[in-house]
Amino acid sequence: MRETQVLVIGGSLIGLTSSLLLSSLGVEHILVDRRPNTSDHPRARLYDRRTLELLRRFGIHGDVEATGIGDLWTRQNRWIESLAGNHIAAVPTESFQMAPADYSPSIPVMGAQDMIEATLWKAAREQPNADVRFYTSAEDLTQDADGCSATLIDRESGEGEPIRAQYVVAADGVHSATRDQIGCPLDENSFDFHLQDILFHADLSRWTGDRVGGLIFIMTSYGMGVYQPMDGATRWRVQLPGWDPERGNLTLEEAHAYIVEAVGVDASELEVDIESIRPWNFIAGLTEHFSNGRVFLVGDAAHAFIPTGGMGSNTGFSGTHNLCWKLAYVLQGHAPASLLDTYEQEHRPIAQRRVRLSIENSGLAGAIGQAHLTGGDMAQAEFNCHQYGSYEGMIMAYEYQSALCQVDQEPPPLVENEHRDFIPVVRGGRRAPHAWLDPHRTISTLDWFGTDYVVMLCQGDHDGWQAAVDDYRNRNFPIRIEHMRHATNTPYADSEAVLVRPDGVVAAHTRPSDPRTPAELLEQYLPLN
Ligand SMILES: Cc1cc2nc3c(=O)[nH]c(=O)nc-3n(C[C@H](O)[C@H](O)[C@H](O)COP(=O)(O)OP(=O)(O)OC[C@H]3O[C@@H](n4cnc5c(N)ncnc54)[C@H](O)[C@@H]3O)c2cc1C
Repeated sequence: MRETQVLVIGGSLIGLTSSLLLSSLGVEHILVDRRPNTSDHPRARLYDRRTLELLRRFGIHGDVEATGIGDLWTRQNRWIESLAGNHIAAVPTESFQMAPADYSPSIPVMGAQDMIEATLWKAAREQPNADVRFYTSAEDLTQDADGCSATLIDRESGEGEPIRAQYVVAADGVHSATRDQIGCPLDENSFDFHLQDILFHADLSRWTGDRVGGLIFIMTSYGMGVYQPMDGATRWRVQLPGWDPERGNLTLEEAHAYIVEAVGVDASELEVDIESIRPWNFIAGLTEHFSNGRVFLVGDAAHAFIPTGGMGSNTGFSGTHNLCWKLAYVLQGHAPASLLDTYEQEHRPIAQRRVRLSIENSGLAGAIGQAHLTGGDMAQAEFNCHQYGSYEGMIMAYEYQSALCQVDQEPPPLVENEHRDFIPVVRGGRRAPHAWLDPHRTISTLDWFGTDYVVMLCQGDHDGWQAAVDDYRNRNFPIRIEHMRHATNTPYADSEAVLVRPDGVVAAHTRPSDPRTPAELLEQYLPLN
């Protein structure tokens, strides 16, 4: 029987990213996806700044950025009667904007899932520790105290291969069968709201003109639909809301008629080439548990979102970023299996908050349409909707809480709006801040993180830190020192040493006046076996 360290079920955004993370951490694994190829009908479009920081680690951020629709399109969401009709409202979307920020080496990308999945797939297959198999499904998953068993079905030949894995990472999506197999049902908010998603090619520039937007909401006879630029040129997606699933999928003729209605012109004026039509419906919620025994749920298998706000895959990226290094450390004998419990402890509150926000956002976007139709308070509706696309605080400043991270007693820096505003700061449980390390601004402090624990030495007792770190290195624990030579004018200016986890999260930090010795601090915050 084939044995592997980890079986990854699902090869979409989060499965492929899990594979890249496991490869980079030296974990041998098999990834299977039952589809013959990566996605041909994109769902997710917005990849936030934190996700791009993660992809930077694999050197594929440039390819992903190249698929984006650019700065101009992503500055705001718009509401108009139809593409050719009257303007209703525009709301800034700072967190969608494909523009640099001084606190990150990365920019968010609004692009198309099919392009990004293809980039992830190509990179994942090239890694030495990965066996990436498409058109292969994982069936009959069971587990015992020592590992997991499953059968991998080659869907072309129909042949099954029994497999044994020490752990399973299930990235098998919102309808995850793994979730049911391990008895972790989705605690779902039930919506009876169905949509049809139409992907098409057309030159709409005559009607959009300079009324560009990452999302362009329009009023239609079905309700409020939304136009979504896929490449900032001629590839578009439009969503038809309130569809009755009993009717089956839209026909090509119906889809064409809807596109024409939503542009607001005569059919003869519009040339449209429809690529695909897909149904989907609102589902939002979290599973009761993110794991059972040796099986871990990631991405939509663990938490499902309404797409409003673009948080679904981004939360999946951060979740598997949290999990994969822990799996590697346990498999490689550096840490006890209890380290894996901190995945749910740390990630659940973040996911929970975002699921709630995604539901709220859907109402806020709809309220602008309502205000237009009923003559309501448009200025208030626009103001309320700011949270939809302006949330740097939410994605950059969340704080993990577990025994792995120091709890800071001082409050974080005061901001006007915690959801929207972000001030980088060194705090236990938060992302370690970015600072450029070279005058050409090519190497970031974030590039230090990935596999080892890192002690960033900023000032103070270098010899003491070196001795403490050497002690753990001699015991084969993956830890090293990096020297922060130009900490002045960075968020590290007051720090003596900052202990950073492999996922770039601050475990602990000291100032020169701190009474704790380096050895004490490492003893407390390293997840030692
Ligand atoms: C219209 C829409 C717009 C969205 N926009 C955004 C956005 O802008 N930003 C954002 O972050 N998120 C967005 N999302 C959410 C995003 O698409 C999902 O969060 C993301 O695709 C989840 O990725 P995943 O890898 O967890 O699961 P999925 O993409 O659902 O992939 C699951 C994979 O598992 C495979 N699989 C299932 N069972 C098996 C099995 N037994 N064996 C082998 N393979 C199996 C499937 O074939 C599939 O490829 C949007 C969603 C929708 C519907």
